[in-house]
Amino acid sequence: MEHKQFKGHVILLPYPSQGHINPLLQFAKRLASKGVKATLATTHYTFNSICAAHIGVEPISDGFDEGGFSQAGNVDFYLKSFKEEGSRSLSQLIQKFKDSSTSVTCVVYDSFLPWALDVAKQHGIYGASFFTNSAAVCSIFSRIHHGRLALPLTPESKPLMLPGLPPLNFRDLPTFLRFPDSYPAYLAMKLSQYSNLNEADWVFDNTFEDLEGKEAKGVSELWQAKLIGPMVPSAYLDERIKGDRGYGSSLWKPLSEECMEWLETKPSQSVVYISFGSMVSLTEEETEEIARALEESNLHYLWIVRETEQKKLPKWFLESNKEKGMVVTWCNQLEMLAHPAVGCFVTHCGWNSTLEGLSLGVPMVGVPKWADQLTDAKFVEEIWGIGVRAKEDEEGVVRREELIKCLKEVMEGERGKDIKSNANKWKELAKKAISEGGSSDECINKFVQHLMAIVEQIN
Ligand code: UDP
Repeated sequence: MEHKQFKGHVILLPYPSQGHINPLLQFAKRLASKGVKATLATTHYTFNSICAAHIGVEPISDGFDEGGFSQAGNVDFYLKSFKEEGSRSLSQLIQKFKDSSTSVTCVVYDSFLPWALDVAKQHGIYGASFFTNSAAVCSIFSRIHHGRLALPLTPESKPLMLPGLPPLNFRDLPTFLRFPDSYPAYLAMKLSQYSNLNEADWVFDNTFEDLEGKEAKGVSELWQAKLIGPMVPSAYLDERIKGDRGYGSSLWKPLSEECMEWLETKPSQSVVYISFGSMVSLTEEETEEIARALEESNLHYLWIVRETEQKKLPKWFLESNKEKGMVVTWCNQLEMLAHPAVGCFVTHCGWNSTLEGLSLGVPMVGVPKWADQLTDAKFVEEIWGIGVRAKEDEEGVVRREELIKCLKEVMEGERGKDIKSNANKWKELAKKAISEGGSSDECINKFVQHLMAIVEQIN
């Protein structure tokens, strides 16, 4: 990791949630492994959750330094405050390095935070937008922003046909588009990602050419992204970054050791790992259906139920025999997915979880709940063939019979064999993309070369 020549300094600014910090932090490590000085700028509230070698970490303010998003209490208020306070403190951070031997060359900002580009430009440095969603999802939202697709989309609408994308039915669309009034602040934020994108010097997306080259090309007349994913720690892919076994960020305390000890006692591919990520909140009814499915399917399970969700677990389930399964509040997901005992991943299809399951070759059962997860789940099932998507009933609940059927299909049936074979194929392609000479690696190398050229020009 010793690189004498200064190849530029990149500040990376994630939106401060787990699903956004992870890929930007991983990109920081990737850049550092190629000799670039990388600094993650994250909010005071999330600052202590970062622990990663070879990169710098600096706090910035979102206006809620004690409690972050929950202190703000509402999305609209939070985003406004982050823009105001974040612009100010990002500017101070860039200033801090000015006139030093490591002055900042470029800000790689989460596409949710387009104001960071204005800050970079005010300082006369470069700016790159980093999308943490799939190219397909980005394509849909950008078309709406550019007036090429009108809302509302209704269940009666014909399947959506967009360049590079498969036909999308109403049930495949991001919930912010299905129900535009449900989360107006989030929808506005998703659309604002494209507001100044044509001024960005680079656009990155956490996906890769073999996976979504067609989807990215389909929208290239509006904007062109460099596909640099999957941003998954190196140990699970190319192994070129020494000791890179985890993202290096955890907003909750992971109980991974207990889980690993328990997994060690289980036969190969016998365990269902279940997680709904860092944000999804299930109803008591949905939680009960999952608990019943696990009980009745008689499979081993490792279920991640965050602290705030634990109260929804049914009493009978908590009192039942825990021989078959384990429930913990948080873990290092990648370590679990990489364990040979895990044979299936029941996931909400957040984009990081989707890429992790795909990169590690773990067959999936998609139970998407909101945002872009529905579109991701469609691709998991129908386009990449690495899992199945559980169907909801008319009340929007995945019932126990449906979940049991999906688990059996993935873990036992004939279809399960195809899914496993596709999962292995995608695992290899993910590895290839980020390995030396792979499509994503080449994109990252070109970025590094540009940074070096800028540094040389300045000196
Ligand atoms: N994750 C984790 N431990 C858990 C559950 C999730 O480390 O117990 C990580 C997971 O590996 C992923 C991130 O949290 O990188 C969740 O991101 P994703 O995009 O899947 O979903 P979100 O939380 O944004 O809905």
